[in-house]
Amino acid sequence: MWRKPLDADEFEAPKGKVYIIDERCKGCGFCVEFCPRNVLEESEKFNSKGYHPPDVANPDDCVHCELCELICPEFAIFVLDEKEEKERRKKRQKKAKGTKKAKGKKTSKKKSGKKGKKKGKKKGKKEGKK
Ligand code: SF4
Ligand code: SF4
Repeated sequence: MWRKPLDADEFEAPKGKVYIIDERCKGCGFCVEFCPRNVLEESEKFNSKGYHPPDVANPDDCVHCELCELICPEFAIFVLDEKEEKERRKKRQKKAKGTKKAKGKKTSKKKSGKKGKKKGKKKGKKEGKK
């Protein structure tokens, strides 16, 4: 770290979780260059445009300053704090459970609907025979 407050040991710095959308990146390197904690580094991988998106090399060092997010010209990088990250995970899990339940209900309705129609047809046939 290039500078450190005198009471740094008394406080715990916030932690951030970095997300990179590789396909949006144009490999300018701003985020790598200006991250104050050297969290990011240039990678060897390519995206479909032929650019090198950064890698999160030191994820534990991120202090959620959001400089990378602000500086990225392509909106290809964003950072969540730990609380936001937990909430996001919970929302995802709820959504996933919700869609599973909804799918289950739809299929059961379809089945019952078909049965109803069949019964109706049978009745009609019987009535016709009489
Ligand atoms: S939020 Fe700050 S510390 Fe974390 S990766 Fe971005 S620039 Fe670096
Ligand atoms: S600042 Fe954005 S576009 Fe530039 S290298 Fe980082 S993620 Fe890619």
